[in-house]
Amino acid sequence: AKSAGGNRYQFYSESLNRNAIRRLEVETLIREGLRNDLFEVYYQPKIKLSTGKIIGMEALVRLNHPEHGVIPPNDFIPLAEENGLIIDIGELVLKKACFATQQWRIQGLFNGRVAVNLSSKQFALPDLQQRIASILHLTQLPAINLELEITEGTVIHDPETAINVMQQLNKMGINLALDDFGTGYSSLSYLKRFPIHSLKIDKAFIDDIDKSDKDLKMVDSIITMAHNMELTVVAEGVEHSSQLNILKALKCEYIQGYIYDKPMPMKQYTQRLKEESPH
Ligand code: C2E
Ligand code: CA
Ligand code: CA
Ligand code: CA
Repeated sequence: AKSAGGNRYQFYSESLNRNAIRRLEVETLIREGLRNDLFEVYYQPKIKLSTGKIIGMEALVRLNHPEHGVIPPNDFIPLAEENGLIIDIGELVLKKACFATQQWRIQGLFNGRVAVNLSSKQFALPDLQQRIASILHLTQLPAINLELEITEGTVIHDPETAINVMQQLNKMGINLALDDFGTGYSSLSYLKRFPIHSLKIDKAFIDDIDKSDKDLKMVDSIITMAHNMELTVVAEGVEHSSQLNILKALKCEYIQGYIYDKPMPMKQYTQRLKEESPH
């Protein structure tokens, strides 16, 4: 007869199995995606609050599978970060984003910065600068049109080395943004030493900014602190006008959120840029 413990074990081992199978499936999908060029980069505008105009955009990857449809990054990025495939994916995204942005520059549609997410695995590559330089060379995009988004987790483990890498990237002309601010380690003492240009406040802090006085005060102090350090602030995940109005009052410069646009494929983004330009 099975004991309760046995049952539990069986259940546990089945779910472990399912998990392992799921991981294998996802890894297979990623490899297939890399082989067959199924990764597609979407673009989401960063909007200047005072004008409502596009000042930049973030490149966000999707796996566009012929059978499974559009697979969101949260379904494959975490695994790709574990097994290292994020390096190939990230390089691909960088290439596509730089290529697209150079097209928009040539067409006179956009001359700001495209922001690309850089995973900690990429950040740790000894030849990171050369890799980026060669992509910029290949696509002809000037370095000043590129921004890299890194998270606190990427820079906190070895701040000295991280600061070095960041300074090298700065020297190339690349801007750096600290992503998901507030969700990680938030080491304020290090923050002032990191050569970054902007700070992105995570959506989790923005969600209830119009309902919770605590959240409002938190975001208020993050913005004030960022401004004291001469960093610009981007609020992520803004969906409602009530949030927008508060962020305006708090002197937040930029927002990214569904209230203006969802991330969209290159073609649609080109259209979006055309509609915004005066001619
Ligand atoms: P992230 O870097 O924090 O990107 C912002 C996420 O918030 C995006 O999700 C974006 O679509 C979503 N978002 C923006 N505005 C709103 C809003 O108003 N409401 C809601 N509900 N969501 C909003 P997405 O595209 O699904 O990407 C999820 C995460 O996957 C990213 O979070 C990033 O961590 C990772 N990721 C995406 N592309 C790449 C990439 O090329 N490389 C790496 N390393 N990570 C990536
Ligand atoms: Ca990001
Ligand atoms: Ca973010
Ligand atoms: Ca995030």
